[in-house]
Amino acid sequence: MARPGSAGALGLSTRAVHEGEDRQKYAGSLIHPIAQTATYVFETVGEFEAFKAGHSRSFEYGRYGNPTQAVAERKIAALEGAESGLLFGSGMSAVTTALLAMLRSGEHMVILGDCYRMTVRFCHSLAKFGVQATSVAAWDWEGLERAMRAETRVLLTESPTNPHLRVADLARLVETGRRHGAKVIVDSTFATPVNLRPLEYGVDLVVHSATKYLGGHNDLVAGGVFGSRAVVDSVRELQRINGAIVDPFTAFLLIRGLKTLALRVERQNASALALATALERHPRIRRVHYPGLANHPDHEVARRQMTGFGGVVSFEVDGDLEATRRVVDALRIPYLAPSLGGVESLATHPATMSYYDLTREERLRAGILDELVRYAVGIEDVADLIGDLEQALGRI
Ligand code: PLP
Repeated sequence: MARPGSAGALGLSTRAVHEGEDRQKYAGSLIHPIAQTATYVFETVGEFEAFKAGHSRSFEYGRYGNPTQAVAERKIAALEGAESGLLFGSGMSAVTTALLAMLRSGEHMVILGDCYRMTVRFCHSLAKFGVQATSVAAWDWEGLERAMRAETRVLLTESPTNPHLRVADLARLVETGRRHGAKVIVDSTFATPVNLRPLEYGVDLVVHSATKYLGGHNDLVAGGVFGSRAVVDSVRELQRINGAIVDPFTAFLLIRGLKTLALRVERQNASALALATALERHPRIRRVHYPGLANHPDHEVARRQMTGFGGVVSFEVDGDLEATRRVVDALRIPYLAPSLGGVESLATHPATMSYYDLTREERLRAGILDELVRYAVGIEDVADLIGDLEQALGRI
């Protein structure tokens, strides 16, 4: 397994607590204040000119950035080992703004693996602006080679994916992208920088839905992109115009959540592995999808590439749609809700929830079986989570 937190000299938790913050803050405050302001004041025109020439670290206007946001950006960038970062009002505004900034009419992109449905939908909708998108199954490397074109500029994937927790071989992905002149974007929401730092593999841009583990408390919606200054600045240029910004209070909550990121994720890794192992042995479970299990198709890649296997486990109940609904409804500890990565465990039934709008045939083609359950482990005691699952499975 890869070395934990190897992106910099200090450990990951030390960076999560201290990076991005000045030691001396407003009025001697220990915690960085929320800069709840729409605009910024300049004493003189000369001061504004100096700011524009890049000679001061001040801010200009709320849509162009905020000191609280900047702290959160520097913190996550330090965890990812990124030169620069940019936060958005949601994970979707991060990925859509990045793609709009990086693609031009006449160009092409490839989406690899079972990416978030809204992301896939957006990529294919770019056809109306003359940008074609091709979806390739995980990890059909021959299919990927066939899909790459002279005009392919972006190769996008998630790792681990949702809901089957497939883990992309990032070195191979980057090699493919480079050979074809395409930038590689990885949505690393499920991994977090605690478990995986894609930039270490040469990935060009990391995307996060900070709504999930980075915030970690199911109380905010945000997103971000992290990478080289050149790539992030090209995305920033567009954000200044489209205004898909994060508000200062959300940035404050994110800073607060980030300080316990490693503690939470390490706990979630351990609990998810224990839960997956218990489910694998359970007579009423047909199959468990978790990269930490030896029989997962990407187990070896995950072991090599990640420092932990993540907090989401998907499993197939040994029963039909109705039996699976009964199991999900009988769970007492996790809430039945979309999302993941927070302190509260959450469960979903993809067939009737996130894929409700597809016919059964379409769902099956997407690999979403009636009996599939996605379980996002929180920070509760794992013995309680397993006990609760066992009583729910008794309802079949
Ligand atoms: N990426 C992944 C992997 C997700 O699971 C999600 C949301 O569920 C998103 C992006 C979108 O993030 P947000 O809901 O913060 O817009």
